[in-house]
Amino acid sequence: MAEHKIKRVSDFPQLTVTDIQPNDDYVILTGGLSKELSAPLGTRYWLINGTDIYLGDTLEYNRDTGKFKVHILEDDNAILPGHAFTCTNSYWNWNFIEYLADTTNAWIKIDFKASDAQEFMQNGVRGWCQVGGKLREGQVATGKIIKDGWDHENCDLCEERIDKNNPVGYRDPKDWFWLCAECYDKYGRTGDLSFIPD
Ligand SMILES: [Zn+2]
Repeated sequence: MAEHKIKRVSDFPQLTVTDIQPNDDYVILTGGLSKELSAPLGTRYWLINGTDIYLGDTLEYNRDTGKFKVHILEDDNAILPGHAFTCTNSYWNWNFIEYLADTTNAWIKIDFKASDAQEFMQNGVRGWCQVGGKLREGQVATGKIIKDGWDHENCDLCEERIDKNNPVGYRDPKDWFWLCAECYDKYGRTGDLSFIPD
């Protein structure tokens, strides 16, 4: 069996910026990529440089020269020629990727049990959250409690349901992210990011 190589943040393509075209509310960056991208044009990427994080849509990509052009969805004059950005597909939230990639972060094994939910209204639409959960702006509690209404979580990686029929899951201590048992074994335990294509 071929040895599986663990993919780290540093293994993703890196864009080194050579040219910046600022506009009113967006920026076009041109630069070179450190390795080939597999995703089609138009794919949205996280562009990460330390704590500077942008979302960008790919506009142009020349596989022969590695020349890469990306449309950044905000106007920011902090980007300068020579800046380098790690590019990761934006299908998964960067906060989740960053948490999972760092193997010093904790995952707590949970035997999932349903708990009560509280109902709220938001823009005329009914919703619910866990009892004790904080309502977001625009959500107004109706006072109704739904017995065992919080009956599942979804794996943040593969969207598998974690519920009474599939109760083993893993979450971070702040309860922001959940992994199913299989994704924890494959990726959470090792910090492997190989589920994200370049
Ligand atoms: Zn999963």
